[in-house]
Amino acid sequence: MSAEEPDTASRADGGSLTLRDAQARVDAWISRFEVGYWPPLSNLARLIEEVGELAREMNHRFGHKPKKADEPEQDLAIELADILFVLLVIANEQGIDLDDALGRVLEKYRTRDAERWTPVREG
Ligand SMILES: [Mg+2]
Repeated sequence: MSAEEPDTASRADGGSLTLRDAQARVDAWISRFEVGYWPPLSNLARLIEEVGELAREMNHRFGHKPKKADEPEQDLAIELADILFVLLVIANEQGIDLDDALGRVLEKYRTRDAERWTPVREG
């Protein structure tokens, strides 16, 4: 693997991957193809498709919709990662640094919701 061709395969080595790394890997993947990034509303539609796939699987597992006999069980982790992939695509296409954005959101919750729920008792 060269610097011009980043590893876009799954990380079976258990190594950590920051959101910034993930955005770079997604960008490397998409940059390999002439079509490049889809426009925003196409990416939004893709995101909703993937959320629908997660909803379908969750409804099969925990809701009221049993699977058909010939319907295979899907991997929840993969369904979540599909959603994350599209979020990374949207962030890249919009020039958003998700590491920074997530940090700001976590800080927002930390301060806004600090006393919203009963804390776990120590010991
Ligand atoms: Mg999916």
